Amino acid sequence: MRCMVTGQFAVGKSTLVKLLVGDVIPEGRHPTDGISLLEGRCGLDVQTREWILINPGSYNAMDVVYNKVLMTSRDEKGTNSSEKLDQHQASDISPAGSKDDNMGNPGVLQQSQAMALPLPSHTSDTISNQPPSAIPLSPETSSSVPLSRQQLKQKMKAKMTIDEIRRKMEKVLKSGKYKMKVGRLIFWDFGGQYVYYTTHQTFMTYRALFLVVFDGSKGLHEQVPDVLCFPGQHMTPTPAVFLQHWVNCILTYCKAVYTGIPKILFVATHKDKVTTEDIETRRAELYNGVEELFKDHEGREHLVIDNQIFVNATDNTDPEIDVLKKAITDLTFQHPCWGEEMPNASVPLELEIANLVAKGKQVLSLREVEELNSISKVSVLSNEELRDFLKFHHSLGKIIYIDTPQLRSYVIISPLLLVEVMRSFVTDIAFWPKKGLIRNTFERMSASGIIQRKDLYLIWEQKHFNKISPYKEFIFDMLIHLDILSEQRRYDVTTGSRLPVENFFVPCMLTQRNDTRFMTHECTPEKAISLAFVFKGTIIPPALPNRLISACLSMWTVKTYEEKQLLFSGFVGLSFDKAHDIVVCVEGNKILLYIVHETSNGLIVPDIATGIKECLFTTLERISEFYKSTVHVSSSSQKLPFHIEYACSRLECHTTEEAALTTDEWICDRHKIVHTKEKWNIWNQDQGKEECEINCQGLQEDALNQIPSDIELQRFSSRCDETTIRELAIHLGMTLHEWEKLRSDYEFVDIVKYRVLVTWREKYSGRFSSIAKALQDMDLTTHTLCQVKRIRKGHCVINEEYMDLIPTDEILDKLAHVIGVVSFQLGIELGLPITSIDIIQYNNGRDLVGQCKDILFQWREDQRIRPTIRVLVQALVNVDRGAKCLEEIIKAVGVKKYTQHEEVEEEKEGKVKTLMKKLNPFQKKK
Ligand code: GDP
Ligand code: MG
Repeated sequence: MRCMVTGQFAVGKSTLVKLLVGDVIPEGRHPTDGISLLEGRCGLDVQTREWILINPGSYNAMDVVYNKVLMTSRDEKGTNSSEKLDQHQASDISPAGSKDDNMGNPGVLQQSQAMALPLPSHTSDTISNQPPSAIPLSPETSSSVPLSRQQLKQKMKAKMTIDEIRRKMEKVLKSGKYKMKVGRLIFWDFGGQYVYYTTHQTFMTYRALFLVVFDGSKGLHEQVPDVLCFPGQHMTPTPAVFLQHWVNCILTYCKAVYTGIPKILFVATHKDKVTTEDIETRRAELYNGVEELFKDHEGREHLVIDNQIFVNATDNTDPEIDVLKKAITDLTFQHPCWGEEMPNASVPLELEIANLVAKGKQVLSLREVEELNSISKVSVLSNEELRDFLKFHHSLGKIIYIDTPQLRSYVIISPLLLVEVMRSFVTDIAFWPKKGLIRNTFERMSASGIIQRKDLYLIWEQKHFNKISPYKEFIFDMLIHLDILSEQRRYDVTTGSRLPVENFFVPCMLTQRNDTRFMTHECTPEKAISLAFVFKGTIIPPALPNRLISACLSMWTVKTYEEKQLLFSGFVGLSFDKAHDIVVCVEGNKILLYIVHETSNGLIVPDIATGIKECLFTTLERISEFYKSTVHVSSSSQKLPFHIEYACSRLECHTTEEAALTTDEWICDRHKIVHTKEKWNIWNQDQGKEECEINCQGLQEDALNQIPSDIELQRFSSRCDETTIRELAIHLGMTLHEWEKLRSDYEFVDIVKYRVLVTWREKYSGRFSSIAKALQDMDLTTHTLCQVKRIRKGHCVINEEYMDLIPTDEILDKLAHVIGVVSFQLGIELGLPITSIDIIQYNNGRDLVGQCKDILFQWREDQRIRPTIRVLVQALVNVDRGAKCLEEIIKAVGVKKYTQHEEVEEEKEGKVKTLMKKLNPFQKKK
């Protein structure tokens, strides 16, 4: 049974764990860095339920697997092992996990909990002479140099034959020192510092028992000094807050497979700090407090509070330690996974892997695993079985194997490597080096949330992390996969290829709070809309928002506001496009999403809002799913741990999406504002359709009061024919003469239609309301204006992974040839200022291709929005050209062309300079 010991820092977790496994309690405080694991140090006698301490010197990880082999032979004493193993090969490997029938009589334990142990009589007195061994986090004993390929080959040749297995097992049996009646207890001691919170969840599983430890000498609601609270929490940090945090963390990440499992046992420490006569009153006080704290909690049935355990963790003679041991024992025996049967077709391979792990090996390439498997004389798994084996053992949390193109060629056979990896850079200030390069890296990381690849590699070159070094690329990709790191992507503006990413964000390392004025000055009820992803419980496990922020950073560019990047603890601001910004932040048990329009929220494009919402929803779903799939058998029955709520127009009250979509109106509590269901449509736009809904009211007031932008005038004019626009212009106060003048100045009528409206706008500060009125006067529908605000959905089969790349020169050159007369409109759609387009037209005379090329290249120079293929596709769709042309070009020439970074910078600068030269004379003339 895995006992996961959690709780705030310095409450006595490590001390308690040491006491439980029989270690010497160290003097003074030794904070735990990351997670430390105490394995093979104690167990439970299955028959007597006795707590057994194990001599650390005699523990052998291989025993676990031997034991499994031994056990599978228990019914057929006559058969020899070799036959038995042949049967294993044929037996089913599927993770059925059917429970052992024998469990009614738990005389024999099944593999995962069982181990061969020396008789308990030897142990208790020898134990104190043994050095305490927290294994195998930084095992000095194991080889720190990974095996070379050659060595490994050797090793594989020397692989155990079935005879050796049998011999070893016989030895084990003959020695008579072993009995199989003891189930192992493995203690996971979690470091309690804030920065670790992102990493811990990766290891939480319902197959474990949880202890939440707190300091009983302090009041539950006393403020804890000098601690960082959680991102987005404004409450004062108190023990109560930490208790809630841990309970929520555990329940969020552990799949509900059995009701009320996993159990969470509360343990108060520091009893000795309370005077003897006050102990009982204090105990009652503490646990009544805990009871009160969780009385309405969804996960109440997981909590074990009744035992009211209150110990002195530094004193192994405290009689209440036995009460605690008894509680752990009882909960272990009640756990449905205790004694669970595991598939055993793959014993030889497991044995090999256990052997390598015991020797300190932590990562194998898939090739190595395949070789290990294939040279077995006993039981070779088919490729398919091998993959199942890996996935199943991944689901048990024994190995880490992620079946994606970047990650599937390696297997982490010792998951604690990942703890080590995270510990290497997601670490508390107390563990930073005192000075030097690495110190600087840590300082930079906690202030800006940014780290470079080479910094990390340098960290891994340190002696105590050099096991990571040989696999640094793989590990790096793994961290990106886990959203611990996210790329700060940059593109080569000339070729559009991805520049080698230099900076990576590490949101979980950020401690700086948002101290900008963005929320009070920009993200206001006038300009923003908001919704919330609401989590059960009162505090969100910080890993979720941190990873969500990571994922956001890989999708959009972080916004710079008043010269600061909007990236803080639990807070990120992003630029979606020139008009729309996104904010994602944590607030209590909510992750809030804001979409901010530069002028007014009435102008937020519904399709954009809907798209962003869906994108975040899927990401959050994926992130919360991940934890489950890392450590648990996959299953789709689990409900999501969050739901959506919409904010009122003051952005303060919330109503559930479910309720909002089924009622016609909602009056918010605080402001008594009536919200009709149309308000939510912005989040639920059907992206496929072009027409307005039947009951569409036309543009809302704030949109009508707005001065139309170039793009909007372009979209509007392209939807009307020449006669309509001419008449409309006259309704709007333009003269026929002005129209005729434009008509003769410009060759293409589309440009004239657009031009006349721009001229009108400039002359009269024209607003949408005037156009709407003119349309009404002309007996035309005003819904043409609604469509101006919509995004058109185009069909496009360009590979999704190309969409965020910047188009190469080659693509733009080719595209310029096929755009034709819409290049002007395209320029407007792409957001080029009309003056620039004028200059481009002037420069190119009648050379349409040249004109188009200049437009496309100038767009790509623009640094405000990343000029991606996606943006280009949308613009092509918007000007009715469609993205098919681009699709064909990409198919023909591809998208990726690697260019050396340095060259590019120079080239880019050169290009900008020439462009400036080109533009300036004309600007002066104007
Ligand atoms: P952790 O951060 O939760 O792992 O806390 P530690 O186990 O490192 O303990 C922090 C400090 O509190 C150490 O100096 C311990 O000796 C001390 N400590 C832990 N439990 C108790 C207890 O029950 N009573 C007393 N007096 N001190 C304790
Ligand atoms: Mg500790």
